[in-house]
Amino acid sequence: MANLGRDPERERRAAARSCGACSCCCHVLRVDELSKPAGCDCVHQREGGGCGIYETRPPICRGYRCLWLQGGLEEEERPDRLGAVVDLEPTGVGVRLAIREVRGGAFDASPALQAIAERYRESMPVRITDTADPTDPDRPYRVLLAGGVEHRVEGEWTEVRRPDRAPERLRLGWAERLARRVGIWRRRRGLETSARGR
Ligand code: SF4
Ligand code: SF4
Repeated sequence: MANLGRDPERERRAAARSCGACSCCCHVLRVDELSKPAGCDCVHQREGGGCGIYETRPPICRGYRCLWLQGGLEEEERPDRLGAVVDLEPTGVGVRLAIREVRGGAFDASPALQAIAERYRESMPVRITDTADPTDPDRPYRVLLAGGVEHRVEGEWTEVRRPDRAPERLRLGWAERLARRVGIWRRRRGLETSARGR
């Protein structure tokens, strides 16, 4: 969730919005206090929207506001209508639009999601992930870039698609592969340690 800066029109829309029947972020977010991994429903979700432990819900649930709730998307682009949670994420060197599918294939099935991606991709990368198994380091994802360029990433390989050119498959350099493997090892170790602590 990135700081969106001041925009009176966006703030006016945000003030008029509430989650209503949507509970998509309850599926997408990882909630450590509940040992809930990302990409699965929370046991406290209520049918038709809402939280069964609203008064005592963990801090991440209290603080999280998707781009729609912050007024950054149109009224009809609420996540439960799109099938994905849309957010702006800091990357360390800038910001990207993150589209996290609640249902697999939501992006390809939704002209509305595709239109949102087109609105943003000239100004920032648009990253599309599913939530099939967020702990899988080889889980494929896509990044849409300016100029019609798309990267399809899976493990150490990236397929680069450019308009009017055949796709090109590239492998990470050895230093990036090493850094990636160390990162995966650390992540797995962290997950095992937290599982043992439960
Ligand atoms: S995804 Fe957005 S609109 Fe939906 S419940 Fe979460 S914060 Fe509310
Ligand atoms: S505790 Fe409530 S707000 Fe948090 S993920 Fe579960 S249902 Fe959603």
